[in-house]
Amino acid sequence: MASRLTEDPAVSVVVIEGGPTDIDRDDVLTLRRWLGLLGGDLDYGYTTTEQPRGNSHILHSRAKVLGGCSSHNTLISFKPLPGDWDEWAEAGAAGWDAKAMDPYFGKLRNHIVAVDEKDRNAIARDFVEAAQHALDVPRVEGFNKQPFHEGVGFFDLAYHPENNKRSSASVAYLHPHIEAGDRPNLRLMLETWAYKLELTGDRATGVRVRTKDGEEILVEAGREVLVCAGAVDTPRLLLHSGIGPREDLEALGIPVVLDLPGVGENLLDHPESVIVWETDGPIPDNSAMDSDAGLFVRRDPESRGPDLMFHFYQIPFTDNPERLGYEKPPHGVSMTPNIPKPKSRGRIYLTSADPEVKPALDFRYFTDEADHDGRTLVDGIKIAREIARTEPLAGWLKREVCPGPEVTSDEDISEYARKVAHTVYHPAGTCKMGAADDELAVVDPELRIRGLTGIRIADASVFPTMPAVNPMIGVLMVGEKCAELLHRAPEKGGDA
Ligand SMILES: Cc1cc2nc3c(=O)[nH]c(=O)nc-3n(C[C@H](O)[C@H](O)[C@H](O)COP(=O)(O)OP(=O)(O)OC[C@H]3O[C@@H](n4cnc5c(N)ncnc54)[C@H](O)[C@@H]3O)c2cc1C
Repeated sequence: MASRLTEDPAVSVVVIEGGPTDIDRDDVLTLRRWLGLLGGDLDYGYTTTEQPRGNSHILHSRAKVLGGCSSHNTLISFKPLPGDWDEWAEAGAAGWDAKAMDPYFGKLRNHIVAVDEKDRNAIARDFVEAAQHALDVPRVEGFNKQPFHEGVGFFDLAYHPENNKRSSASVAYLHPHIEAGDRPNLRLMLETWAYKLELTGDRATGVRVRTKDGEEILVEAGREVLVCAGAVDTPRLLLHSGIGPREDLEALGIPVVLDLPGVGENLLDHPESVIVWETDGPIPDNSAMDSDAGLFVRRDPESRGPDLMFHFYQIPFTDNPERLGYEKPPHGVSMTPNIPKPKSRGRIYLTSADPEVKPALDFRYFTDEADHDGRTLVDGIKIAREIARTEPLAGWLKREVCPGPEVTSDEDISEYARKVAHTVYHPAGTCKMGAADDELAVVDPELRIRGLTGIRIADASVFPTMPAVNPMIGVLMVGEKCAELLHRAPEKGGDA
């Protein structure tokens, strides 16, 4: 948005970013080094509350660097499926249906290409072939070419295959202008933390920030404040500014500015489980980012899109199983079945009025009444085993490490799958967009916070429902649309 808005020299934008620049940071810019960033200095590292039916030990990585999580994620790039957008429109986000949203994909500046031939590992190729035969699903070359219900293939990624460099939000939208110095109307305040929104009556007039050196500054907005802190930190900032559920704020002694009950509610994610095999010796080393291929299945023919997804990892991904006593094999691969349309809903809330204290993230994993979510993972483990029994993948695999061949009943598989469950790192929905009569909607279909003026939200928190596919491209499309809404807004020029 900063890049788009400053195309107009009459508009000036200040970007307030908690983390440092990604420029000249090979550890950030090299896509394949993503795993090394998790849990490090550039990770806010959120934890979850106790999850009685799930895994209470998940580290919810969120990037603290220019470009946000697009600077430390795997950059798998899916245009949300038509049903994903139509579901938003039906949930009260008028104007966000598939037909209206489609053009924004074409506007994206990221370099989105299929995993390059040289990066296609032999075992990932054999996974694709085995899944195709085992499940009779189509082989997809270019998941963004047309909508799909099921299919297996190599992903599209936002990267530059020649040097494995990211094409993150930062690289694609900001670097060209930082390098050329051609946007005097764009200012970056890095390593600067926004801790409170400044309001005059019902109008947002600025943001209170703390710089790296501890200096506290009020950054004033001539025109609008755009909140893009992500699904965890956007509701956190609102709550600390007195915008949220009245009772919760009062209980913490935070003066209520606006009683908005939906702030922090509707916490969505894509939970996943894992099944790991030891391979017969090392596998070839080439890859874009070690999880280059995936599979979508539609178990329910009535479903609008896929209802089970898998990432295939060319590494033994045993972080969570190890806690249950499983050992990491010297060489191995993993499949991670995930739930494209989870039914469980969680919530983010504050436990202290001190803005330094991290909020509580209660995903309420696997709590939906009909156990749709738990059941999906059980199906996922069973389907993964079918693929593993099928050539040409079968010939690579020495043994199933976890859950292990002795775990066969639905009950036991479910217990394992939930206890080692992980996240695909897709929290969303905590300031959802909706219609005027939806009391849990936080923003209206023009992304304006209800009951306030001069302030919008544009990030994963506005998602009313979860897309079946990985969400980053959806977030970028929200950004493109928000920039356009601002261009169209009556009062031209000014500062954001
Ligand atoms: C490890 C990992 C892998 C992933 N892989 C994929 C993938 O392959 N494909 C995909 O589609 N999605 C993927 N995702 C998800 C995707 O990256 C996110 O959905 C997306 O980046 C969310 O964008 P956002 O703008 O809502 O928030 P973020 O990307 O989290 O950006 C928020 C920004 O705001 C800054 N910030 C937050 N609070 C403050 C504050 N108070 N003051 C100042 N600055 C602040 C942060 O530093 C950050 O830069 C992955 C995520 C992770 C973590």
